[in-house]
Amino acid sequence: MCKWGCENSCTTYGQHLRNKGLNYSGCFPTRSRGSGRGDATKQKKWDAECDSYRAAVKEGIEPDGTTKAKVEFARAMSDHAGVPYGTPQFKEKVIHKTLERHT
Ligand SMILES: [Zn+2]
Repeated sequence: MCKWGCENSCTTYGQHLRNKGLNYSGCFPTRSRGSGRGDATKQKKWDAECDSYRAAVKEGIEPDGTTKAKVEFARAMSDHAGVPYGTPQFKEKVIHKTLERHT
């Protein structure tokens, strides 16, 4: 088990994300393709999403995807639980909270 909690022996967080099959590489596109009309807005929105995704990952959060909705959800959950979303600690905490609520 790697230190981020998956079954592989990841040496870097980026490698871990790739091993987990997260679409992290989707945030590093080739900028050369398709710079036609209409793409600028799309590209900007997409850049913003990737920026917030990368910022979240830097903080140790593991969003379920790179979209704004998923990053915001992961952030909200992290704030709520007090531990980064998607980590083993988060899962543990959520399980404990759920148990507390039922006792
Ligand atoms: Zn790993």
